[in-house]
Amino acid sequence: MSEILDPFKISQKQLSEACKLAEYTRDIYNVLSEPERFVQVKITIKMDDGSIKTFQGFRSQYNSARGPMKGGIRWHPDESASLVKALSAWMTWKTACVDIPLGGAKGGIICDPRIMSERELETLARSYIQQIADFIGPHIDILAPDVYTNPQIMAWMMDEYEKIIRRHAPSIITGKPLPLGGSAGRSIATAQGGIYSIREAAKDIGLNLNGAKVAVQGFGNAGSWAARILQNDYNCKIIAVSDSQGAIFKNNGIDAQAAADHKSQTRSVIGLNGTNQISNEELLEIECDVLIPAALENVITQKNANNLNCKIVAELANGPTTPDADKILQEKGIEVIPDFLCNAGGVTVSYFEMVQGYYSYFWTEKEVIEALDRVMTRAYRSTVEEANKFDTYNRMGAYIISLERVIEAMKLRGWL
Ligand code: GLU
Repeated sequence: MSEILDPFKISQKQLSEACKLAEYTRDIYNVLSEPERFVQVKITIKMDDGSIKTFQGFRSQYNSARGPMKGGIRWHPDESASLVKALSAWMTWKTACVDIPLGGAKGGIICDPRIMSERELETLARSYIQQIADFIGPHIDILAPDVYTNPQIMAWMMDEYEKIIRRHAPSIITGKPLPLGGSAGRSIATAQGGIYSIREAAKDIGLNLNGAKVAVQGFGNAGSWAARILQNDYNCKIIAVSDSQGAIFKNNGIDAQAAADHKSQTRSVIGLNGTNQISNEELLEIECDVLIPAALENVITQKNANNLNCKIVAELANGPTTPDADKILQEKGIEVIPDFLCNAGGVTVSYFEMVQGYYSYFWTEKEVIEALDRVMTRAYRSTVEEANKFDTYNRMGAYIISLERVIEAMKLRGWL
C-alpha cells in the first residue's frame, strides 16, 4: 500500500493515534482535527518587468485555547493549503509541549523568493499583511519567520501592520531585527533548542557527544546553526551536510563555519574545499550517531527508513518523518526526537521576544539561552516520561502531554 504523504492527513493520523492512546472520545478528536479558521488570500503585485502577478497566500489559525495563536510564514513554491493546516496543527502541539501560553497558527505564500528582487519581496510581504490584517493581532495571532522568510521580511510586515492600525505594535510579529525589538538569540534559537534536546537524548542512550558523528540534512538557518554549535560547543564531528543542490561528505569532519561561508558566497554547500559530493539520499543513510533532518517534510519515508544508520534522529524540520517510517524507526530502536519538541526553540524564543517587547526591557543573549535550556530540558523530560507512562514512543508522548494541556484549557473555557 502506498503511504500517506499529504501533510494534513499525516497530522490528523498522528492526532487520531494519540487520542486513541489517551482514550479521548471521537468527539474530542473531531473538535481538534481542523483549524478554527483558515484564510486564503489573493495577493496581486507588480513585478519589476512590469507584469502583474498573482500569488496565493494562506493563514491557518488552528487553536486559540491556550493563548493568542502563533506561527511562522513560509514562502515556498511547494506551499499548499494542506501543508499550512498541518503546520498550524503542529504549532498548537508545539507551544503546548513546551508549555508557553500560546496557541498555534501558520501562514504561507506559494512563491519562489530565491528568484525575486528585493523590491518584489517587500511588496509581497506588505500585500500579504494588507490581506490578512483583519484576522491577526498581538492578542489574536502573531506571525514569525519560517522557510525562506527572514528578519527583514518580518520588519516589512511589522511596518505594514503598524501603518494599517496607525500605532506601534511590534508584538504582531517575532523574529524581528534587534533594532526593531527582536530578541538576542532568536536566530540561533531553533538550532540551540534542538541541541538541548539532543544533549538530553544522548544522556539517555549513553552516547558521548564529544567526537560523535553528525549528519545535517538542510543547511538553512536551523541546520547551519545546529552544525556550527554542535561542532564548537560539543566537539561533534559534522561528517555530512546538504542543501537543495546536493550533499557533501568528509569523514574526519567538515568545518561547519566554512560550509556556512561557502553557502553564503555561492548559494550552496556543494564544492566546499576538501569535501566529496554525495546525493541527498546517501546523506540520510550515512552511518552516523545523530541525523538531523533540518529542511522540509517527508524526507524519511517507508522507502528509506530501513536504511537509516544512526542512533538519534533529531527533527529540526517540521514533519520530516512519515507515520509509516516512524514505525520502522521504532522497530530499529532509533531514538527519535519528534519535530514539535525538537524544533520548539524557535517559538520559545519568539515568546521571550514577545515578553521582552511587552515590558520594553531586553535580556542578554546569555539570559535568553539559559531560559531556553530550562524550557527545552523540561519539555524533553516530560515527553519521555509521558511516553514511558503510556508505553509508547516519543512522538506520541509529546502528543499526549500537549493534548492534555490543550484539552484542559478548552474544558476550562467551556468549549468541551
Ligand atoms: N516557524 C517556527 C516554527 O515552526 C517558529 C514559529 C514562531 O516563532 O512563532 O516553530
